[in-house]
Amino acid sequence: MPPQAAGHANRLGPTYLWVSLGYLVLWYLLDHWARFFAITPEVSVWYPALGLDMALLVGFGLAYLPLLVLSNVLATLAFSEAPTLTNLLTPILGGNLVYAAAAYILLHRLRINPHLSNLSDVRWFLLFGCLLAPFVAGTFQTFGYTLGGVFQAQDWATNTLYFFSGDATGISLVSPVLLALLGWLKQPNGAQKLWRAVVQHWLAGWLWLDTLARLVAIGLGVWVAFGGSWSKELNYQYIAFAPLILMAVQKGYAGALLTVAITNVAAAWLLHDDIGNNSNTFAFQLSLMAVGYIGVLLGASARERMRLEQHLRHLALYDPLTGLLNRNGFIEQLQQLPNQQPLPLAVIAFDLHNLRELNTTRGPQFGDEVLQILGQRLQQFPKAGHPARLWGNDFAAVLKGNPNQVLQQAQELSQQLGQPLTVQNDQIQPQLSFGIALITPESNPSDWLRQAEMAHFRAKGLGAGQIVVFNHSLSIPDRVGLEQEFRKGLALGEFWLHYQPVIDLIANRIVALEALARWQHPQRGLIPPSEFVGFAEETGLIVPLSYTLLERACREVYTWRQLYQMPLKLNFNVSGRLLQERGLAQRMQQIATAAGLETQDIELEVTESILVDYDEATLDSLFALREAGFQLILDDFGTGYSSLLSLKRFPFAAVKVDRLFLLGIPDNPLDTQLLQTILEFCKRMHLQVVVEGVENSTQHQHLLSIGCRYVQGYWYSHPLPPQQIQKKLAAALP
Ligand code: C2E
Ligand code: CA
Ligand code: CA
Repeated sequence: MPPQAAGHANRLGPTYLWVSLGYLVLWYLLDHWARFFAITPEVSVWYPALGLDMALLVGFGLAYLPLLVLSNVLATLAFSEAPTLTNLLTPILGGNLVYAAAAYILLHRLRINPHLSNLSDVRWFLLFGCLLAPFVAGTFQTFGYTLGGVFQAQDWATNTLYFFSGDATGISLVSPVLLALLGWLKQPNGAQKLWRAVVQHWLAGWLWLDTLARLVAIGLGVWVAFGGSWSKELNYQYIAFAPLILMAVQKGYAGALLTVAITNVAAAWLLHDDIGNNSNTFAFQLSLMAVGYIGVLLGASARERMRLEQHLRHLALYDPLTGLLNRNGFIEQLQQLPNQQPLPLAVIAFDLHNLRELNTTRGPQFGDEVLQILGQRLQQFPKAGHPARLWGNDFAAVLKGNPNQVLQQAQELSQQLGQPLTVQNDQIQPQLSFGIALITPESNPSDWLRQAEMAHFRAKGLGAGQIVVFNHSLSIPDRVGLEQEFRKGLALGEFWLHYQPVIDLIANRIVALEALARWQHPQRGLIPPSEFVGFAEETGLIVPLSYTLLERACREVYTWRQLYQMPLKLNFNVSGRLLQERGLAQRMQQIATAAGLETQDIELEVTESILVDYDEATLDSLFALREAGFQLILDDFGTGYSSLLSLKRFPFAAVKVDRLFLLGIPDNPLDTQLLQTILEFCKRMHLQVVVEGVENSTQHQHLLSIGCRYVQGYWYSHPLPPQQIQKKLAAALP
């Protein structure tokens, strides 16, 4: 849940005093200002002080209600010529108590973040705050007339209308600005950040001339709306806000709020000259309110998208579990290395042998914690530059020095990382082996990591604790050997599939099965795809492998569909290399129909990283597959580099959100928000969403609560061999 206002806790502390003083001063200024723009002594054109009231209650908590009441009493005493009980009680009963109820609902029922830090908070706030305004105005009037003893329907109606729009403009325009400011100031170094943002957004970020042009555009718009006499006859008011709306979209929340604030002040100022013209006044109020709404909402949604894209970029380069670089990030660093550091350098790659065993015997959570500790140890090793967790249990770093120095550093690293570690009161001994590639001026960055990994592969074969330095003779026999084994395995049917169900949470049933490759190696046992898919892609063997597996998967799924009479879909993973194949769509269609399936029954999963730099062939394949009737799913969403909008260019029907978005749930508010934003975004783009990697009931509950429909993960079912999946399907029958 979003953090609640800090003010709750220190009711009578120094914060309370400062907030109270600040509130009273600001309230006096705003109230005074509103009276300056009054239509009649009672009715204000707009009432910014109400925006302050609302911001106080929502931003600092209900503990400030007495302060609100006090300020109203003081105001009545100060401004009424002969204060009566009626005009003392009316604002308190008609206004403050209703606002307190609204703040209570917003904070404790709807649980909005008081600083309006995301779109849904902004939306709830505006909706609730403004729906409330007529209610407040009506109650206010009713109390006033009832307590005063004379009820005149005509006056009641007119005044309610004016009060309503004055209140609503106050709340919808002034509160969001104040609350957002408050949120900013409460961040560490908030004041500096805010100042920088203002300077960047409004001054330095744009050329001076550009800024000037925009200010003139806003000013002109406001003047056209309220100042120019000819515009009144033509009723052009609303057009005047085009520049504001444009700015909201371009500059995000900060830009929108600042523009809203400036426009309001300027408009109120201009209108002051024209205060007698009542019909125009009402139009003014409505247009200000409408524009405030649209501007703030557009700003919030633009900011949310920018923030999401920034986060996605970060995810694309860093590993969320350990905070180290991931494979993309590490390769990016390697490419910049020759410009940054003098040779000699080396790349070291290593992995934790027993991770798979730890995951199966003690659960994935346990494995994750072990990886985190190893990541910390690697990070704390001073001589390891650019520490990275490449994928799964594979780590890498850059070492500095000549071959002897590098070897010695590797030994030290091996010793430090190999220390026993304690997780969940269990002590384990990490088993590691290391591969090193020396960086030479002739070789190029993309080779370094591959060579280190090849050396590491050899070291692993030799057993835990080994360190192997790459040399060219190393690579060839290993590769040729592996390739032969692979071909033999293909011919002998050693490759087969495990299936993991995709669940529909609303219908509460299995809607699809994802086929996941396994290699049953005669000597090495069951090998997971992380250990052979990369190799198969490099050698092109992924092509025959994929066709073989697709055939098998289609046959098996067809059998289950017939057997259990359920509309089960098949999810099949397609690698980037396969998409380069000419005639792919045709061939896959043949395989599907030969096995009795329609292409519509098959969803092809393509990993997001292929969108980073795709070529024509890939794009052609994707469209041809779509044309043939296959559904396309963007897999591992969030781990690639693609901008959200680039999704539009590809013919996807669904995205599969990577499990890394679940890691921070429920503790990290940013992650919880992001997941929700992705859901909303995909909905708008008409994309289905599947969230994968759901491992526990907290995550499951959270997904239910945000309306996520399709899920997959260990919590529902591990990937299982065909016989066991068949049992599961049978058990799921009504
Ligand atoms: P993927 O497509 O993202 O598949 C999901 C992976 O996450 C699977 O690993 C699955 O076992 C694992 N998984 C499922 N639920 C959970 C969970 O709750 N928590 C965690 N931590 N993991 C979960 P697997 O089977 O090892 O496959 C790894 C990758 O290998 C796949 O990732 C896919 O990219 C690739 N792959 C698998 N089969 C094929 C294939 O037939 N063709 C191609 N081209 N790639 C394949
Ligand atoms: Ca997949
Ligand atoms: Ca995936």
